Amino acid sequence: MQKVINGCMKTNIKSYKNGNFRTFIDLNDGTKIRETDEDEFIADFAESMDVKICNYCDIGCPMCHEGSTTKGKFGDILNEKFIQTLHPYQEIAIGGGDATSHPDLIPFLYELREKRVIANLTVNQIHFEKKQDLIKKLVDNHLIYGLGISLVNPTEKFIELVKQYPNAVIHVINGVLKPEDVKALENNNLKILILGYKHLRRGNEYFDAAHEKIEKNQKWLYDNLEGMLDKFKVVSFDNLAIEQLNVKRLLSQEEWDEFYMGNDGQSTYYIDMVERKFARSSTAHMNKRYDLLDSVDDMFNVIRMEND
Ligand code: SF4
Repeated sequence: MQKVINGCMKTNIKSYKNGNFRTFIDLNDGTKIRETDEDEFIADFAESMDVKICNYCDIGCPMCHEGSTTKGKFGDILNEKFIQTLHPYQEIAIGGGDATSHPDLIPFLYELREKRVIANLTVNQIHFEKKQDLIKKLVDNHLIYGLGISLVNPTEKFIELVKQYPNAVIHVINGVLKPEDVKALENNNLKILILGYKHLRRGNEYFDAAHEKIEKNQKWLYDNLEGMLDKFKVVSFDNLAIEQLNVKRLLSQEEWDEFYMGNDGQSTYYIDMVERKFARSSTAHMNKRYDLLDSVDDMFNVIRMEND
């Protein structure tokens, strides 16, 4: 369905049935609505998967919970059988490592587009700025829809560049995000996604070395979160940030029911194509990661059984 609202703002809404509900997603800005006549949403298949395609990255962030380095490997992303089992309009959120450095990224995205899978990509700000030609090509050819950009430094140039991408969401980390970052970003009609601080791999080491600074930033964000909400076009959270910042305290029950998309593993899970493992989320304990299966639905069922 394509339609025009107010004669200028285009929407591109797709809808599909999944279990006892219907999902509507606007591919132009990522807005998603789920509707059901029942009390809870029960999915037949995962609505989205976080997919790690490589562990290579040349940035070396001290808090990298993936532990990515220039020695990191690339997943064999063109040859995994589960790709053939993806459902139309199922979403995959592709990340790394530096996913833009994967040599098979473009053919992989063409294959997903062929299957009408909605691919979203997360890149670091430094790669976003350096690889504009690639990013533009991916967006213009509808090879990716959502574009996540991990914040490094909110310069004016960066903010202006982000504004050129209606589907861009700036990713920030609770504890790494500083008050001055928020000041620079606010009132620019931007969308931000606040991620919880992950105590995993280098995230653990960095926390040990810099916990005073991290905790100070976390306290500031906790205390100032409410005031931030109307200074951005959208403020969203991953489940870890919802917990760390106790986001529920800021919403009425009605708002919460409308806003909360469910626990990890309820409609989403994580696939690591480098290590060939899947899990409830990217922060799952190493003994709660399972060998990759040939079907996305079989993997989802394993995760759901783990939840029960
Ligand atoms: S956090 Fe992202 S950009 Fe930084 S080293 Fe890890 S993968 Fe690279």
